[in-house]
Amino acid sequence: MKTKSRLLVIVTFMLLGLTAATIINISLNFRDYSINSAVEKSQLAANIVKDGLTAHMVNDMMDKRQYFLDKIATSNNIKSLWIARGENVIQQYGEGLSNEAIRDEIDKEVLRTGESVQKITENTKATTLRVTIPYKASTPMDNTNCMSCHNVERGDTLGVISMEFDISDMRSSGMLTILKILGINLLFIVVVLLLINYYVTPYLNLFSNLQSGIKKAYSGDFSHNFVSKVGGDARSVVDQMNSLFRKMQETFGDIKYNLATFIPQGCVSSSDPLYEAKTIISELSDIYKFKKTIELDGSKDEVYTRIIDILKLKYQVGHFAFYEVNNVTSERKLIYSTEEDDAICFEKTNKNAMECRAHRTDSVTISTEFPNLCQACVALNIDYVCIPFNINHDISLTVSMTSEDRDEVEKMKKNISSIKHYLEAAKPVIESQILMEKLRDTSLRDGMTGLYNRRFLEEIIDKIMSHANRHNETYAVMMLDVDFFKMVNDTYGHDIGDKVIVALAKVLKNSIREADLAIRYGGEEFVVLLSNATDEGVMQVATKIHSAFGALSFDVGTSETLKKTLSIGIAKFPTDGDTIWKCIKYADTALYEAKNTGRNKIVEFKPEMFQGEDF
Ligand code: GH3
Ligand code: MG
Ligand code: MG
Repeated sequence: MKTKSRLLVIVTFMLLGLTAATIINISLNFRDYSINSAVEKSQLAANIVKDGLTAHMVNDMMDKRQYFLDKIATSNNIKSLWIARGENVIQQYGEGLSNEAIRDEIDKEVLRTGESVQKITENTKATTLRVTIPYKASTPMDNTNCMSCHNVERGDTLGVISMEFDISDMRSSGMLTILKILGINLLFIVVVLLLINYYVTPYLNLFSNLQSGIKKAYSGDFSHNFVSKVGGDARSVVDQMNSLFRKMQETFGDIKYNLATFIPQGCVSSSDPLYEAKTIISELSDIYKFKKTIELDGSKDEVYTRIIDILKLKYQVGHFAFYEVNNVTSERKLIYSTEEDDAICFEKTNKNAMECRAHRTDSVTISTEFPNLCQACVALNIDYVCIPFNINHDISLTVSMTSEDRDEVEKMKKNISSIKHYLEAAKPVIESQILMEKLRDTSLRDGMTGLYNRRFLEEIIDKIMSHANRHNETYAVMMLDVDFFKMVNDTYGHDIGDKVIVALAKVLKNSIREADLAIRYGGEEFVVLLSNATDEGVMQVATKIHSAFGALSFDVGTSETLKKTLSIGIAKFPTDGDTIWKCIKYADTALYEAKNTGRNKIVEFKPEMFQGEDF
């Protein structure tokens, strides 16, 4: 409607301008016309006066001239008419009548110059046109021979004829004309404005209808129905816009629906399907890139690092902890924490993840929803958003984001479903990494005892060596072998033999620290690696194993019980050998020495025991 008023104002001003120009033009022309016609009239009167006076003179009726002049004045609507004698006439015939004297400067000027003068005098009451015409001496070539009576030269000014015309009527009739023109124009303007209003309003309505529809479309709403009261081209534009908008709405609806199947919970909730589609597609693209990257990662830990990076870099989470939960034992392992101290609930939940509300309820736990929502959280004035995520039967993850800033918490809440999409994308990769680890573990472990096997030792030995060299670590290598084991098999069968092997493995596990390694080297032969142990410590562990195994009694099914002994050989890295492999060999040499010198004993390696070539 703003456009409409502007249009009407512009048209009004244009028409008013046109009216003003017309009025000015007409009034100027009218004035010129009125003056010109008065001047013509005065010229005519002057000629009549001139001829009349000549006739009076010729007929010797000069004494009757005033009557003639009065008559001329009244019959020609002349306000005043007088004549004035020139110097030469006065000299020849005297001053003349009293009203024939020079009346003003104009008379004098015309007498002097012989040129006629016109002057308009205007005041509020009246407008007067003054015309003074010279009366010049003429010769017989003209109609009258003035020189026959006057002692003058041809062309000398004999006198002047002055007339005053009241042309006030011209002004009032001019004003009337202007008023009429103004009235007609104003009427015309009103009619034009009404017509414009009548014909333009429907177009302007259509225009604002189009405008509001397009405005809605900008915010993603294509439901607008365009209407128009005008036909023709406008109607077809409206029809095309309606069908375009319907198509857009259907298309974006479909896109949104189809994209929603990729991201089930919908990472954005906006009334703008375009914006929604754009956000979902960029989210999908990010997740796709993430998935492609983690698929090539070598381990579960690497995948975890990617998730941590996403939390840090994409979601800009300032404070968070990332846990892996063992669903079977409910043990929770802290994979990463932004805090140097323990995370806000780690103390309570690391041993029993069931204390964690998010894990227990398998639902996102947001502290702002209820006071002290998670009883395990001990921190005051810190809000948390904890997302549990189940990977498989054995493992689940928990992301615990914390902040003291409520705005940040709101941001975290908004990102929950998006973070879940990343976890969802990582799920199959983590699952397959777990499976791979299991498979790998199986190939590196001995199925019967659960201890690592010789292959594992072969794989890990280089790493142990370089680590030991870097950190100046020492290792004691123990080689253990059951005495006369063959006999067990031969006498009681393999099952009993297996039982003995499993029992020895158990003794080994219970006798060493977490940092130490027990390996089933082959048959009933075991290797134990003790890191950074003192000489006494090594001997203590060896003695402990030796006596613990010796103390075992095996049920062999009859009334008998079986007891077995163990021989142990020990070599130390780097004192005895500069590589662990050498030390294994030397420990084997010491074991051989133990076997050879009566079995059931612990023998430490001495260089003289080794007969073979150095390697
Ligand atoms: P020594 O005191 O000299 O060690 O005598 P030994 O009889 O123990 O001799 P040896 O160490 O050579 O015997 C190894 C035997 O262990 C041979 C093999 O049949 C048996 N054995 C190897 N692996 C297994 C196993 O997994 N289970 C059972 N039951 N026996 C095994
Ligand atoms: Mg043996
Ligand atoms: Mg053996």
